[in-house]
Amino acid sequence: MTIALALHGGAGTLRRSDMDSELERAYRAGLERALEAGYAILRAGGSALDAVCASVCALEDDPLFNAGRGSVYNLDGKQEMEAAVMDGSRQDAGSVTGLSRVRNPVLLARAVMEATPHVTLGYAAAEDFAARIGAAMQAPEYFHTDKRWQALLLEKERLANGGADDDIPEDRKHGTVGAAALDAQGRLAAATSTGGRTAKWPGRIGDTPVIGAGTWADAHCAVSGTGHGEYFVRAAAGHEISARVRYLDETLETACDAVVHGQLMRMGGTGGVAAVDRLGRVALPFNCEGMYRASIDGEGRKRVAIYRDELQR
Ligand code: ASP
Repeated sequence: MTIALALHGGAGTLRRSDMDSELERAYRAGLERALEAGYAILRAGGSALDAVCASVCALEDDPLFNAGRGSVYNLDGKQEMEAAVMDGSRQDAGSVTGLSRVRNPVLLARAVMEATPHVTLGYAAAEDFAARIGAAMQAPEYFHTDKRWQALLLEKERLANGGADDDIPEDRKHGTVGAAALDAQGRLAAATSTGGRTAKWPGRIGDTPVIGAGTWADAHCAVSGTGHGEYFVRAAAGHEISARVRYLDETLETACDAVVHGQLMRMGGTGGVAAVDRLGRVALPFNCEGMYRASIDGEGRKRVAIYRDELQR
């Protein structure tokens, strides 16, 4: 019985020079908590779907990460959260976008998958559905963090001064949380949740809720992405990784590298993925300075890392 779990807390890490040891400990502790939340379910024989939802909920509840509590702000100073789940064993999926009050967007995405005839619901209709099913809601203050508000102010100033995309520090560019898992019954699942990009246009939809872009799972692999969402959508990144595994017979690692370091890089898209295959192999490649990440592979090897110079896989 092989089980495995890989997760990310976003491909936009603080620059090393801006990271102090206390903050770094807090990030690593958040990743550990999320890893344990999901892995405990897998260890007890639970489903990959339950495991990825548990890991993502832990990260959504942690204000350090850009999802749920601690989400970034759009140009209008509002939070519009999005999330997705995919159950690879049934090739079933659910996603939500434009949420501002739902405490755990990933659970609403799961409810869309399980309790509606649709795959994606957005904005007021999604929040109405959340209220109807009794999903936990929170007031805007719950989701607010000064760090994200300051990031919006800096970003607006940069835009007003005609700054180029290259000038943005990565932690202001990126952030998202996600997990991919294999359970003891051989089922794969993926889940992703995000506040999106700082200063995004109101109504902008990123890759996270687009099934096949930022979130994908089938019988071969499960993938959750983080990075510049427009590129992940244009590359159909999650699905592309799976297609390479299926049609080219590539290993998960080779397929992930081809998309993250090959295709996305060629297009100019920064980011990374957390992926697991049906053999319990994990891959966590990224093409930027760092990616908050953690995993336990099918052989029980555990890793928690942030920067590039730490062991990648
Ligand atoms: N992929 C997310 C988005 O574009 C943000 C990120 O992961 O950095 O909305």
